[in-house]
Amino acid sequence: MKLPGLVKNSLNLSVMVALGLVTYSSVTTATDQKLALVGLPNANVSITTSAYVAPEQRVDSLCRKIEKKLGSVKANDCVGRGFEEADGYSVEGLPIIEREFGPVSGREALSRVLVIGGIHGDEYSSVSIVFKFMKKLERYHSGLFHWKLVPLMNPDGLLQKKSQRMNVRGVDLNRNFPTPNWHEESHRYWVKKTKRNPRRYPGPAPLSEPESQWLAKTISEFQPDVIVSIHAPFGILDFDGPKKRAPKRFGELHLNLLGTYPGSLGNYAGVHKEIPVVTIELPYAGIMPSSGEIRDIWVDLVRWLIDNSEEESATTQAKVTVNESKLDPS
Ligand SMILES: [Zn+2]
Repeated sequence: MKLPGLVKNSLNLSVMVALGLVTYSSVTTATDQKLALVGLPNANVSITTSAYVAPEQRVDSLCRKIEKKLGSVKANDCVGRGFEEADGYSVEGLPIIEREFGPVSGREALSRVLVIGGIHGDEYSSVSIVFKFMKKLERYHSGLFHWKLVPLMNPDGLLQKKSQRMNVRGVDLNRNFPTPNWHEESHRYWVKKTKRNPRRYPGPAPLSEPESQWLAKTISEFQPDVIVSIHAPFGILDFDGPKKRAPKRFGELHLNLLGTYPGSLGNYAGVHKEIPVVTIELPYAGIMPSSGEIRDIWVDLVRWLIDNSEEESATTQAKVTVNESKLDPS
């Protein structure tokens, strides 16, 4: 397709990635990838353009690929359900998609909740359950919370012929977040503790991957009060954040603190950014919980979010009171 006024080599690479004219992975050098990500053109790069694809078509196309891969997600669970491109792309140029259930007029949301599925591409149930949560919100969303649902953080990993935990460049995205001393700690951990397990490779640098970059950007822009990160197959709940706020159980999943890892989302957001991160570890990667169990997990999650929000506002209230008493000691 010809785009009037657009001349090869003169386009801003990040715009081209966003328009679907070029995939992130076709931008071949590290320098060019960095330029593409920060939105700077490189006059020396040669790009092969392909047919323009509208964002809605890219979303639909991804939905169909997910449906082919996951028996528990039907195409119409995703196509035409209000998913949008989230302004982020995988290494292979697939969109990261999101669906928001935002504020309802006349009601202030108690908190913003970011739900992330499929950061590990071989944990199928962690993707499917986000679509189940979406259906509950379609029925019951009342504006109590402002939700952002991201069912598939690692589309390349899921959609490989043989799905894989890592992204297509072999990076465990859940070890790629910029925790303090990442360079020393994450590689030391990978070498000594995991014996260079390729499934745990943290990447060459923090936020070296477009998928993890997108999530870090989304956290800073959306400013969630809580992050719900979904995994499998440990069958527990994990929590990073202020300990008194930890949930005890969601359905049959009980709190069992697994500890933190250099570069993990829980470490990055929960410990260092102090945003409570609750990790739902479903019991099986390839078998969905029963509909009753999904309902119980959902109800307990929402109850915990309400309690957590009340605790948060009580803490804020206490701080205000303390500050006021300092200003006026009488
Ligand atoms: Zn996982």
